[in-house]
Amino acid sequence: MVATNHIKILSEHLANQIAAGEVVQRPESVVKELVENSIDAGATTITVVVKEAGKKLVHIVDNGAGMSEDDVKLSIVRHATSKISTELDLHNISTMGFRGEALASVAAVADVEIRTRTEAEATGWALTSQPGNAPEIKPITTDVGTQVFVRNLFYTTPARRKFLKSDLTEFRHVSEVMQRLALGNPDVRFVFYDGSNLVFDVEVGSLKERIADVLAIDPARQTVSVSSRESGIEISGVVGLPSASRQSRSGQFLFMNGRSIVSRSIAHAIASSYEHLLDNGQHPVFVISLTLDPGRVDVNVHPQKSEVKFDDERGVYLAVQHAISAALQAASVVPSFLGEIPIARLPLQSLQGGGSEEATFVNRFTGEIHTSQRNTPPSAWGTHSNQGSGWSAAAQAGIDGLYSGNEAPEPNQVIPVGVEYMATTSAEGLVLIHKRRAHERVLYDRAMRNAGSSSGAEQAILFSSKFSLTPSRAVLLRQFIAEFLSLGFKIDVAVDGTVVVHAVPTDVKAGTEEAIIDEILQEIESSNKLPSVQNKERIAAAYASRQSIRKGDTMTDADLKRLARELFGSAVSHVTPKGEPTFFIIPYTELRGRFD
Ligand code: ADP
Ligand code: MG
Repeated sequence: MVATNHIKILSEHLANQIAAGEVVQRPESVVKELVENSIDAGATTITVVVKEAGKKLVHIVDNGAGMSEDDVKLSIVRHATSKISTELDLHNISTMGFRGEALASVAAVADVEIRTRTEAEATGWALTSQPGNAPEIKPITTDVGTQVFVRNLFYTTPARRKFLKSDLTEFRHVSEVMQRLALGNPDVRFVFYDGSNLVFDVEVGSLKERIADVLAIDPARQTVSVSSRESGIEISGVVGLPSASRQSRSGQFLFMNGRSIVSRSIAHAIASSYEHLLDNGQHPVFVISLTLDPGRVDVNVHPQKSEVKFDDERGVYLAVQHAISAALQAASVVPSFLGEIPIARLPLQSLQGGGSEEATFVNRFTGEIHTSQRNTPPSAWGTHSNQGSGWSAAAQAGIDGLYSGNEAPEPNQVIPVGVEYMATTSAEGLVLIHKRRAHERVLYDRAMRNAGSSSGAEQAILFSSKFSLTPSRAVLLRQFIAEFLSLGFKIDVAVDGTVVVHAVPTDVKAGTEEAIIDEILQEIESSNKLPSVQNKERIAAAYASRQSIRKGDTMTDADLKRLARELFGSAVSHVTPKGEPTFFIIPYTELRGRFD
């Protein structure tokens, strides 16, 4: 009997092809790996050209350190890297790459040409490689730096080539990765071409300048800076105001120790800070960098190196949530901050035709459509059908008590428009304000300000009033009793549902307390829209919604003016606690256009 051996060592080419399955999934991964190499090589300008979304060609040009003849030969050998050599280095990685796998993997699935020269040498080197063949190298004349051409990705593996999506989809992936790289490295100039079309050319600058160039938002008007250091984590960057939010997560960028990362938990922590500020289905925009001891995170979990694990997930979550909430609270939004937003030019492609008067652009990164008319009027009057003549008494009391010690700049003349709206002007144009929603915002802010410091928020009522609630409402009231107290209610609830009210917030007129309490409870019951975390905010929102003026309430000119002033004194004047727009601006440019 002769024993047969079945186990063989894979050929290097086959091993590389298998590894390539991990590292190179689509043109996007090629772009990412090559650009990261250029960044690691100290390049200050990186040009990226893709053809057919990178399937036909990915071409990178950098002005980094370049490679010597020996280095360029080794560069496409698997596990050949200049970036780490000991296990100690592995725990202290300061470069984007370190596995020495990327070029080997790319070379296993595409034709690769590398043209490179170092400062120290007069001659450069051109290495050409085809999958499965020995690479060739020859001397050339070239600038200091490196160019890499990756041609015909996956042409030797048709099954994997078929797996690629349409050019449009693949291009979107490439664009997203270019956006991440550009946002993560504002100190590098990036020039990005789709064939012969320039997609963007972003100069070296601050993060804010980079955001303006790369994302279709104006950081000065539409974002808030974040800067905090807490439990060993430094959190910096910007978050978008609610007005800059999107229907998708396409505007969300996270970095950790200089590396673009994906973290559902951090993204959630950030989004949770926007509670009440966004409608369902809206997602905040953010570009946030975390800096923390590399020993506290494991970046090594995935070859794409985008997922991270923290030793203290919860601590990081809370630190991020706290930093973003604080930044949003400190933000001050007034109408002059909300003018026509200059849209970053280059990612946008004009869509012609359609006979529409509006100029339409598609953002090639996100696929979002922008029209020149950016603001839409608030939706028609909806939730409150309660018609009355004059103010409801409680609303009048609320308006009267609102305006002490307010430092917000006084808006121009305010005039009523129909029964539901009022109008004023700002530097940008005509401002139309939804009265009831404005009042709701103002009451909410006031309730939140009062919450916690019970002084002055409540007024005792002469004869405490007594009524009874249904068992389920009584349970709800007991559950939220602390929040009612912090708003200025003084209430006892007995187990049988009997309620005794001793004091109410100053906005509430005596005699209406039963109705108000019942309505707030009803609102809480029906508001499954509001996540359950922040009871205080839920109560304040329900209270503001119920207490706000009704359609048909009449207001004097002075009332209107004070309401506008208080609204624009709010940090988040443009939306109600539920996220409905409170006002919008018709820019002067648009008014001029209408008269042309
Ligand atoms: P890694 O980046 O993990 O080290 P790669 O396969 O991406 O592995 O690259 C292998 C090596 O080739 C790098 O360590 C680096 O020394 C060299 N290299 C790759 N791209 C460049 C470049 N653009 N400029 C200079 N050196 C490069
Ligand atoms: Mg690399």
